[in-house]
Amino acid sequence: MGGLHQPLKNIGNWSNDPDDVMYPQFVAESPPHGRGEYGLPVTVFPNHLSAKTNQSFDEGLKKNNFNQFVGDIVSVTRRLPDPGPPQCRSLSHQSRHRASVIMCFHNEAWSTLLRSVHSIINRSPPHLLQEIILVDDASDLDHLGAALEKYMSGLSIVKILRTGQREGLTRARLLGYKHATASVLVFLDSHIECFPGWLEPLLDRIAENPHAVPYPKIESIKPDTLSVEPHVPLSVGTFSWANLIFRWIGIHELRTKPARSQTAPIKSATMPGGLFAISRAYFTLLGAYDPGLDYWGGENIELSFKVWMCNGSVELLPCSHVGHIFHHNNPIHWPTPGSVRRNAARVAEVWMDDYKSFFYETTGSDKVVVGDISERQELRRSLNCQDFEWYLNNVLPELPVPTDCLTVGEIRNAAYNNCIDSMGRHSLLPDMFTCTGKGYNQFWCMRDNGQIWNYHQHLYVKDGNVSLNLRQGSSWTYTQNGQLHEKISGLCLQAGKKTLTIQPCSGETSQVWTLTARPPNQRH
Ligand code: UDP
Ligand code: MN
Repeated sequence: MGGLHQPLKNIGNWSNDPDDVMYPQFVAESPPHGRGEYGLPVTVFPNHLSAKTNQSFDEGLKKNNFNQFVGDIVSVTRRLPDPGPPQCRSLSHQSRHRASVIMCFHNEAWSTLLRSVHSIINRSPPHLLQEIILVDDASDLDHLGAALEKYMSGLSIVKILRTGQREGLTRARLLGYKHATASVLVFLDSHIECFPGWLEPLLDRIAENPHAVPYPKIESIKPDTLSVEPHVPLSVGTFSWANLIFRWIGIHELRTKPARSQTAPIKSATMPGGLFAISRAYFTLLGAYDPGLDYWGGENIELSFKVWMCNGSVELLPCSHVGHIFHHNNPIHWPTPGSVRRNAARVAEVWMDDYKSFFYETTGSDKVVVGDISERQELRRSLNCQDFEWYLNNVLPELPVPTDCLTVGEIRNAAYNNCIDSMGRHSLLPDMFTCTGKGYNQFWCMRDNGQIWNYHQHLYVKDGNVSLNLRQGSSWTYTQNGQLHEKISGLCLQAGKKTLTIQPCSGETSQVWTLTARPPNQRH
C-alpha cells in the first residue's frame, strides 16, 4: 500500500520552540510516489535523454529560465505537505469574505500555469472561492490561445481576460480588478502552488481588519528540480533606495521583534507584490494601482507605501503558504528600457516627499521622464495620509537613511579610470569595473563619520583585505592629494585593472581617487 493514498498527518518536522519557526523543513513521513509529489525534487540527467528530448530540455530551460522539462513531468495536481507550523491547525476560520483570485501572465509555461490554477482550486474551500480571473497580457505562445480556452472551459470557476496589447502586470491586474466580483481580491503570480490551508488565514485577517493587507509566507519552488522548500529565515519586506526594489529582511534583524507567536500576523514594511490579498473596497479607496506603471515593478512599493501611510498595514501571515518559482533570471522582456526606473520615479515623486532624492542619487544622474502624475498626487492629497518621514520612522526604522553623505556617486580611480563596484555582492569583495555613471553597484556615499557606504554595506578592511560589510565600516580620510586612507591600518586604497586592495601609501596614481560632493543644499 505504501503511504500514497493515506492522508499524511504531519509532514513538517516542526518543533514547538517559537525560534525554530525560522528554520523549518518540509519532510515527508513516508517516501511519496509520483514525481515531485509533496514537493520533493525531481532530478533529470540531460545526458541520459535522447538527442531530441535533450534539445527540448535545453529549450525549455532557455525560454523560461526554470526547468520546464521537469515542470512538464510533474503532475499538475501534485500534492504539497502541510507546511505548518502545527499551531495553525487548531485555528478556527469563519471569514465572511470570498475571494476573487486575479492571476496575470505573459508567456507562462503550460504545465506551470495549469499547476497554479489547479492548486488554487484544489486547496481552496469552494465556498470561499468566487472565481479565478486569468489575465493574459498579450502572450504570443500558441498554448495560451485556443488550447487554454478549451482546457479552462471545463472549469467554470475560471474566467479568461486578455489585454489585447502588452500592458505589463499593473494594467493587466487592473483589468482583472475591474471584473472581480468578490469582496476580497487575491493577486497571485502565474508560477505558484498554494499549500493546504493557504486561503483561510488571508480572508480571516481581512474580516478582522479591513485595512490589513496580508500576504502568505512565500516558499521557494526551485527552478531546476521544482522542489518546494521553506523560505528561510522567516523574513518580511523592505526596499532598496536604488529603484525601490523589494528586499527581504530577516525578522531577527527588525528593531522591534514580532510577538513570540507562531500564528500571529507579522508587520511588513513592503509587500513582495506577486502574492497578497486586499479588501476590494480598501483597494478602491486607495485608488488601486497607478495605471501609469509599465511592464514590471513599482506597483508593490506604491501599494505598500500608501497602505501604511493611509491607515492600513501590510502583514505576513505565517499560517498561509504559497510556493513561487524563483527564476534563475527574469525570463520576461520589457520592450522599453528603463521602465523599472521610470516606474520607481513615479512612485517616488508621488509618495516619498524630499526622500525621493535618495532614489535619484542611487540610480545615476540621467533624467527620468515620469509622465503625468497629477492624478496620483491629487489622490494622495484627497486621502489625507501620513507623510513619508512618518513611514520611515514608524514602519521601517531599519532602513538606513543616507542623510549624512558628504560625497555621493562613483569613486573613480585616476590610473585605470575605472570605478569601485560592489558587483551586487553581499559581504564579499568589491571589484574595480568600467565606470557606468548609473549608480547602483557603483553608488557610494562617504559619510561624515568617514565610512564609505552604498546605503546597504560598508567598505571594510580586515587582515589586509577590503570587503563589504553590512554592520561595520572602516573609517576613511579623503586626503588633499586624492588618496583614501584607512584609519586603523594607515594603509591606502589601491586599484588594479579589476581588483581593489589596501596597500602602503605611495605616490602612485592607482591610489588617487575622485569622489563627487553632494551639493550642500541636499545635505539634510
Ligand atoms: N507579467 C505580466 N506582464 C508583464 C510582466 C509580468 O503579465 O509585462 C506577469 C508574470 O507572468 C507573472 C507576474 O506578472 O505572473 C509577475 O511577474 P514576474 O513573475 O516576472 O515577477 P517576479 O516574481 O520575478 O517579481
Ligand atoms: Mn514571479
